[in-house]
Amino acid sequence: MPVDHSQCTDDYARYGLRVRGLNDYLNRSDLSMQTSNISDLCQGDALIIVDVQNDFLPGGALGVSQGDQVVPLLNHYIQYFRKAELPVYATRDWHPSDHCSFTAQGGIWPPHCIADSEGAQFPPGLLIPANSLIVSKATTRNQDAYSGFQGTCLAQQLRSAGVRRVFIGGLATDYCVLNTVKDALKEGFHVVLLKDAIRAVNLNPGDGNRAIQEMIGLGAATQQLEGLAG
Ligand SMILES: [Zn+2]
Repeated sequence: MPVDHSQCTDDYARYGLRVRGLNDYLNRSDLSMQTSNISDLCQGDALIIVDVQNDFLPGGALGVSQGDQVVPLLNHYIQYFRKAELPVYATRDWHPSDHCSFTAQGGIWPPHCIADSEGAQFPPGLLIPANSLIVSKATTRNQDAYSGFQGTCLAQQLRSAGVRRVFIGGLATDYCVLNTVKDALKEGFHVVLLKDAIRAVNLNPGDGNRAIQEMIGLGAATQQLEGLAG
């Protein structure tokens, strides 16, 4: 089973992740000059899968239209990271049953992703590597978190693992992907948005496209599998 790192720990060696040395770090000073090509991954890169959970798939409590279509695409990206022996992170909504974002508590969403429920699980078709780091967010009643960085140790975990560039995909484009990308940029990481492996809620028509433009405007590069070999 993947490891839940909600409780911060620096013990990365246990999970087989390589922490880059200083020389490696210095050699990457030209990182921003490189293309954001998924087939050109190197040390310092990580994949972040955002909230691909049963409740966010079609038929789920808060299903995102076509949300299931990201699963096979993310599996392809996961393969690239596995081959390159680079770390994979997966965030998840992990709410108490009386969470503040639920309508009964005055929030705007139906109950979803209640901790340990079936709806909160990752879909079985998503091939998350066994040594992936799982980041649970919005785990307390009074706090919501669209971003995987909000109220979690994700930034610290990435830095401890020597990560400088993050490739981000998942659900949903206009909420948790958008906010995770914005926080990753704020934290100083290079960001590559996996443009084919995201889907939007589109509560207002065009929200997804506006979110993509906002992320690009803030400095995110984009990447998609189409046209890549292998
Ligand atoms: Zn939520």
